[in-house]
Amino acid sequence: MESYESVVIGAGQAGLSASYHLNRLGVRHVVLDAEPRPGGAWQHRWDSLTMHDVHGVADLPDGLAPGGSGERANLAVPSWFGSYETSHDLPVVRPVRVTSVTEVGGLLAVHSADGRTWLTRTLVNATGTWTRPFVPRYPGAETFLGEQVHTHDYPGASHFRGKRVLVVGGGASAVQFLGELAPVTSVLWVTRREPVWRSDFDASRGREAVAMVAERVEAGLPPASVVSVTGLSLRPQEQVAAGLGVYERRRPMFTRIEPYGVRWSGPLADGEAAYEPVDAILWATGFRPAVTHLAPLRLRSEHGGIPLLRGSADVQTAVTAAYDPRVQLVGYGPSASTIGASRAGRAAALAVQRQVSEGPAISRRDRPRTSAPASAGP
Ligand code: FAD
Repeated sequence: MESYESVVIGAGQAGLSASYHLNRLGVRHVVLDAEPRPGGAWQHRWDSLTMHDVHGVADLPDGLAPGGSGERANLAVPSWFGSYETSHDLPVVRPVRVTSVTEVGGLLAVHSADGRTWLTRTLVNATGTWTRPFVPRYPGAETFLGEQVHTHDYPGASHFRGKRVLVVGGGASAVQFLGELAPVTSVLWVTRREPVWRSDFDASRGREAVAMVAERVEAGLPPASVVSVTGLSLRPQEQVAAGLGVYERRRPMFTRIEPYGVRWSGPLADGEAAYEPVDAILWATGFRPAVTHLAPLRLRSEHGGIPLLRGSADVQTAVTAAYDPRVQLVGYGPSASTIGASRAGRAAALAVQRQVSEGPAISRRDRPRTSAPASAGP
């Protein structure tokens, strides 16, 4: 069994940033990543998503991100990550899928699907969300005879040509899918809440949105996505769909799914039908944090989220698990964006260095089993 001062799980933006800073601080560590090649979740984004379409990929420390271009994001970012790993000599081991992390004699034991174990004094969890697509439950979903696809498996607009597609979800992905689909096929959009369109988005609104997510996480609630609280906007790529009126014809969520369509019960707005036939449902309903392997460490609060301690005024650097300061979560909650992940990597590496130099850490069992303190240093 190999023993380390730190193990990083995940080699996306968050894990690479953490590893870069751990190297600089001289912390002996290894990065375990489930994918056979570099790229984190970006290697799985749909083919039509170009660097010009993404909302902006932040730099890694000492590594300039590829700029906006017509190149596919699922090629450009993985190629950048690959060069970054090599040029900064990051100790990434793959493919290693971590199945659980347990406590063994005061150390953490990281177990993989192929039966290997790494012992470590500290852990940086950087596993993102891509492996946990979320589809809400609606009555009758199992009776639907058409196709149901989640963002995770979006096959591109041409796949849906000639079909009537129901796009579900009020986030940036839904807006992009409608932009691609409306010019080639018939679409209908439903969201749980009235979409919030932003016209005056600037850095301070961005900070407010991240602070809202941070507050939830500090209170031990499951994190909302950062992108979901920044509001929506239409880019030049969505103007054809906007001209076709698809964003204006948005409807509230249906009540049930039937074999050939969806049905609303209750009052309807003028001109709205109680039933709409659809051939495909595209669930653009987001993802959940991929943290099930951390369950044995009992990091969750009674509210269902993993509370993090706020380390400084910068909420994106809240990374330390309130119930076990040996564990840092990066790319989680307020740092679940590329810029947040890059910043959180540094905060996590500094917290790890503190833990390693200060000796045995306090584990959850030494802490009261109440919800996390609202604000405190590790
Ligand atoms: P990932 O990139 O998901 O990396 C996690 C890594 O951990 C993966 O390699 C995965 O294989 C590995 N892993 C997971 N589980 C395990 C395990 N059990 N064992 C071992 N390895 C594991 N943010 C922006 O700032 N700008 C954007 O334009 C933008 N566009 C987005 C578009 C989409 C469709 C989505 C879903 C998100 C987007 N985001 C964007 C959010 C952004 O992509 C993420 O916040 C950020 O890239 C996440 O980086 P990460 O390192 O946390 O996760």
